[in-house]
Order: sequence, then C-alpha cells, then structure tokens
Amino acid sequence: MYWEQEVEKIGQAKLKKMQLAALQKTIRRAQKSFYYEKLFKDNKLNAKIVKSVSDIQKFPFTIKDDLREHWPYGFVAVPKEKLVRMHSSSGTTGRATVVFHTLRDIAVWTNLLARCMYMVGMRQRDVFQNMMTYGLFTGGLGFHYGAEKIGALIIPAGAGNSKRQIQLMRDFETTVVHVIPSYALHLSTVFAELKLDPRRDTKVRIAFLGAEPHTEKMRKKIEEIYGYKAFNSYGLSEMNGPGVAFECPEQNGMHIWEDSFLVEIVDPKTLQPVADGEEGELVLTSLQREGMPLIRYRTKDLTRIIPGRCPCGRTHRRIERIKGRTDDMLILKGVNIYPMQVEKKLMEIEGVGTNFLIILEREGFNDDMMVKVEVDKKYFSGDMKQLEGLRRKIVEELKSEILITPKVNLVEPDSIPKGEGKAVRVVDNRKD
Ligand code: AMP
Ligand code: ZN
Repeated sequence: MYWEQEVEKIGQAKLKKMQLAALQKTIRRAQKSFYYEKLFKDNKLNAKIVKSVSDIQKFPFTIKDDLREHWPYGFVAVPKEKLVRMHSSSGTTGRATVVFHTLRDIAVWTNLLARCMYMVGMRQRDVFQNMMTYGLFTGGLGFHYGAEKIGALIIPAGAGNSKRQIQLMRDFETTVVHVIPSYALHLSTVFAELKLDPRRDTKVRIAFLGAEPHTEKMRKKIEEIYGYKAFNSYGLSEMNGPGVAFECPEQNGMHIWEDSFLVEIVDPKTLQPVADGEEGELVLTSLQREGMPLIRYRTKDLTRIIPGRCPCGRTHRRIERIKGRTDDMLILKGVNIYPMQVEKKLMEIEGVGTNFLIILEREGFNDDMMVKVEVDKKYFSGDMKQLEGLRRKIVEELKSEILITPKVNLVEPDSIPKGEGKAVRVVDNRKD
C-alpha cells in the first residue's frame, strides 16, 4: 500500500525537523546561483536566520518573470557540468521557463512519482501507457522514470495519434494510463467512431489525470465513460513537474509531498498567509533540489488546504483540486469569472458533449461572452426544438453560476479543434 511507509506516515514533529534541515540546506544551495546570491546580499538574508520553517516568510517571493529575466542559467546553483537534464514549462502564459536537474534531482523526482503511482495501486505487473508529450514537457519523461522504478511495462506512446493510442491500448492490454483530461474526453469520441466501448473493449483500470484544471464532474464523466478510476495529478515544471501533489485512493484532495516541498497558501492580492483551510495562491519552496532550488515560488494556482487527517493514513496535508490560475480569471462586465465555473456547470447538463470554448468579444464599449459547446449528435437530427431547448437551458444554468448572460452556440461533437496538449478554454478577441 505504501511505497515509503516511514516517509508517507511521518509524524508532525519529525516532519518539521526534516523540513527545517532541508530548508537551511536549500537556502545555502540557492545562494550559489546568480539570482539568489544578489537577492540575499541586497536583503541581508542567509541560512542562519532560518530558525524554524516559518522563517521562510522573511524571504521574498520568486515569480515566473524572475525566471524569464534570468534566462537561461541565472537560477542554476551548481557547476554546469553537474546538470544532466533540462525541462521547460508548456508556455501557455508567455515565454516558457526552463528548469535544470542534477542526477540526484532526477532520482528524487522519480521516487516521488513512484510514490504517487504506487499509492493508487499501480504495480510491477501493470502495463502503463503514457499518453503525454515526451520531450521538454515534464509529463512524459517524469512519469516514465517513475513507472520504470516501479517496474511496470511502459508503452511510451506520447501524445496524439488517437487511433494508434486505442490500438496500443487494446493489443497490449494496457491497465494504467496517464492522460490530459480534455484529451481523455476527446479520445472517447474516437472510440465511439470506431464503434468501440472503452469499458468493454479495454482493460484499463487506473488513469492519472494531470496537467490542466478539471472539475470533479469532469473526472466523474471520464470515469463513467472508461470504467476506470481516475486520480488527479498535480505539478508544475518549476517544481520538477508531476509528483508535487497526487490523489490517494480516497479521491478527496491531493497529498502534497511535504518532505520535498514547503507549502504556503497566500492571499494573491495582499500576499499574506490565509487562515487554515481558506482558499488562496499556492506558494512552494523546493526542499530537495540542488540544480535549481526555488524559494517561495508563486505558482498562481488557486487551492486550499483540506483540514483534517486523511483516512488513508498518510500525514502529508491535502490540497483541494486546483480551481484555476490567478491569471486565467476573466473580468467581464465587472464580474470575475473562472473558466472552471463554466466547465462545472456544463458537465452537470445532460446532452453536453466533451469540449467547450469561451470566446470573448468587444463591440463598442460592450464586452460579450460566447460559449461554444459541443453537444450529442442526436440533437442535430430531426426536431430542432430540442436543440433550442438545450441551448436555453445552458444559458440559464450558466447565468446562475457566472451572473451574466452568455451567448451560447451549440455545435456537433468534435467541431472545436483539440490539440495534443493542454486544452485552450478561452479565446479573447477583445482589443484594447
Ligand atoms: P507546466 O509547468 O507547463 O507543466 O504547467 C504547470 C501548470 O499546469 C500548473 O501550475 C497548473 O496551473 C497546471 N496543472 C498541472 N496539473 C494540474 C492539475 N492536476 N489540476 C489543475 N491544474 C494543473
Ligand atoms: Zn489519503
């Protein structure tokens, strides 16, 4: 049940002690990088002022722009010859950022991923199909190494090529998959095209869903279509990639591995810590990394700590599924809207298909939101009244959630383009 029982069930006192030692080491390591050396000097900071883990608050935050401005090697804290791997973020919000790893960093990351996969039941006998891009993106190689450590047979399928994915899955009797949630839904339409039913025609029993925000309803929908258990996998390249936080068999929040990451939740406006259990921006400090340690990195991801202990016995705290990013909040007619609110509502409505897109337009001084929604094919044959009824229902339901009335355009399955990577949920055509 446990990959590393002693660490996964570590007591609070022991964890704090371990974190403090690791934090002091991290500060000393970071000081060797161009960026932190100057920052610490200018602010009179060093490892000696860290007497408890809460002393982390004496240090400034690190943000994505700091990484961009010190491209390419400004954050590297070891001699370059000690680096063995580079990865980068997927660059959905501007220029990608790069992260470097030593051999030890890779070993620690690999172990974290093995811990995650083992936790939800993946074992040596499993056949693991990794449907994530291999390369700079961390979801491919990260999981690959973790699965190899467990000893599973890996099919490094990579992303895309849906028909081949299905064939591999069937021919080699895949039992575990790693997939982006929006792609899992897209793939289900290809199964349907091939007149196959994933529940009947595959042997997959576990899925890791990661890399993009998705609602509980979306998870349920995916589980329902495929007949497997789907577990939420969270990470970001700046903190290795996947393996930062992962759902356990309870499927109620993701354990964030506190032996590797120091967790803070702050108010994104004031940057002050929020009360326990309150929502805010996740801020992480790497505790194990040597190649490129990061201190108080603002993830921009919104979540909260779930209070209380998890029945699974693991003591690492749980974060709630990511609600969205502080930078994907839309402001329309003065109302704050997150794309996840739209997804949540849509997934509750019978007849809604597998993809949607929010389009923002500006006419004169008026901003409008149009939501394009794929719906079941049956609505497009015969009685158009049914289609109109569904459209009205969607408008009403969305209005109740986001407080403004969107335009809704219903389209046939697969008419919204779906790439191989993270889903694009918003197209903003407003010109300033
Ligand atoms: P990247 O560094 O390109 O891998 O992107 C990392 C970002 O993807 C995170 O900061 C999150 O915004 C998002 N992300 C990754 N995994 C999840 C997840 N399970 N749920 C929600 N968002 C996620
Ligand atoms: Zn648990």
